[in-house]
Amino acid sequence: MITEILTADQLKKEAPVFGQLSFNDHEQVVFCQDKDTGLKAIIGVHNTVLGPALGGTRMYDYKTEWDALNDVLRLSRGMTYKSAITGLNLGGGKAVIIGDPKKLKTPELMKRFGKFVHTLGGKYYTAEDVGMETSDMDTVREVTPYVTGISESKGGAGNPSPVTAYGVYMGMKATAKYTYGKDDLAGKRIIVQGIGHVGEELVRLASEEGAKVIISDINEERLEAVSTKYGAEIYRGNDLYSEVADIYAPCALGATINDETINKLQVKIVAGAANNQLANENIHGALLQEKGIVYAPDFLINAGGIINVYAEIAGYGRDQIMTKTENIYNTTLEILAKAEETNVSTHVAALTIAEERIATRKKETLGE
Ligand code: NAD
Repeated sequence: MITEILTADQLKKEAPVFGQLSFNDHEQVVFCQDKDTGLKAIIGVHNTVLGPALGGTRMYDYKTEWDALNDVLRLSRGMTYKSAITGLNLGGGKAVIIGDPKKLKTPELMKRFGKFVHTLGGKYYTAEDVGMETSDMDTVREVTPYVTGISESKGGAGNPSPVTAYGVYMGMKATAKYTYGKDDLAGKRIIVQGIGHVGEELVRLASEEGAKVIISDINEERLEAVSTKYGAEIYRGNDLYSEVADIYAPCALGATINDETINKLQVKIVAGAANNQLANENIHGALLQEKGIVYAPDFLINAGGIINVYAEIAGYGRDQIMTKTENIYNTTLEILAKAEETNVSTHVAALTIAEERIATRKKETLGE
């Protein structure tokens, strides 16, 4: 039996499966291996109370299998809350494939992975994530219908990134309204860290509204291109986290709000696309609240992508996708007000609302 006295290392040793720190009431975790193609994958099904678990597949050259397991457990749990808070009838799941996509990814490997997805009989639907392309989902579609994010020509909803960016923009505007009394971004100094698929579109939306956008990326070519296109300022300093601005939008990696960065932040708002922005959600959400920085929960405002792929299952079209994504504005205002009212961090307020929705549905199902 696991007691609270065990340290993290002991937990891993004595309870290597359910004792994983990120194991958080997950319903099912599936380990998949195929020697012929070199496939090593883990599918995490966190919760299916609201519907089938939907979440992308990430292919990444993880340092260790522990890292891959930890990632899939954290990401799949995040998907449960993302769909619940967005009002979608979806559960939370995610998959990881271990290995460098540039070296290991082949159509055979993707098909083998698709067959594993198929064995779950629709309990888990996959989609693309880091290291995956729409064409990979098309390959998976050859062996299972339980996949979204396929090409538009094959009946898919198309690229989710612009929709994600629009949702982040809506969440950002709502947070500005809460913080400054109006949602106008004109004149606001906004740092966008990571100007990839989502970040670039966010730069476009904010610049067109008259914001002063500062961009940062490890890809110099992209920096020059995006700066020229939208007139954004390239950050040339050596400590982005200390930069004075109104809004910090993390759109590259997760865990950028951590012990090291949190005391440097000189912004009023954190609102961006990256998943799992808080390195430790129990600590850093509350610390942001203490510092008076308004945090728009990542899983709430980056839900545009999941709204987009859900359209493929629910059968709704572009107008409904955009209306649902626009509604992130209202949900964000609701969460910020609830956090203030109950004096909890915005992250906790959002989690609580998501959990309430799942609990209500569970009760209804039991009563059926
Ligand atoms: P992307 O790979 O297209 O872009 C990421 C960008 O970040 C790249 O330009 C990369 O060079 C840059 N980058 C990497 N490390 C960096 C660093 N240390 N500092 C600055 N820049 C760095 O990814 P994306 O699709 O734009 O997604 C961005 C984030 O949003 C990711 O965390 C992703 O998980 C999350 N997200 C994306 C979607 C979507 O629809 N694409 C949906 C939900 C969440």
